[in-house]
Amino acid sequence: MIVERIVPAYYDSNIYVINKKILIDAGMSTDYILSHLENVTPVSDIELIILTHAHYDHFGAAPAIIKKSGAKLAIYETEASALQDEDLSSALMFGHTCPNLTPDILCHDGDKIPIGKGENGEEEFLEVIHTPGHTSGCMCLYEKSSKSLFSGDTLFSEGGIGRADFGNSAAEKMTKSIQKLTALDIQNLYPGHGTPTLKNANRSVELSLKFSERMNP
Ligand SMILES: [Zn+2]
Repeated sequence: MIVERIVPAYYDSNIYVINKKILIDAGMSTDYILSHLENVTPVSDIELIILTHAHYDHFGAAPAIIKKSGAKLAIYETEASALQDEDLSSALMFGHTCPNLTPDILCHDGDKIPIGKGENGEEEFLEVIHTPGHTSGCMCLYEKSSKSLFSGDTLFSEGGIGRADFGNSAAEKMTKSIQKLTALDIQNLYPGHGTPTLKNANRSVELSLKFSERMNP
């Protein structure tokens, strides 16, 4: 799996480009993202945008990318309706209205999204892990052969965790969700904001669990 990160502008989420054709989250600063994405891969080559959750800073630029590429949009099944909700999506908080975005693919816990063949010629997948907390329909994505976790806003590098005080947060489920992640072997952590951790990220996830146990007992 090739992972390239578009370093965000302002309050944008990180944007991860997988194998030059799949995006994990799309950010919101449309012009900035379109031009930086073009440096990584032709925008027209993007086939799929996977949203870790329906917050505007993660999906505001998606309509422009979809318009140029025809990419399909995927999100967790119970998160889809928040895409159209100015309050739950935090669009108003970022000074925007919701674009008319309808997902093509609704994800479920345990789904495996194919991303192409790895170095050994075998098909690789992003596995969907439902992690309610930051929002009730948040999901993380795990790629087994590289031991990589894309954690959205559930947790961040160096033991950070996402806020769980939004209208559609599920604070009481946050600690259990992070506990589920500690069962994985994670070398590379690609969070929704801030710098990725590219070595022994298990330690970072354990610190996030401790933090969440204090914040969301
Ligand atoms: Zn968020």
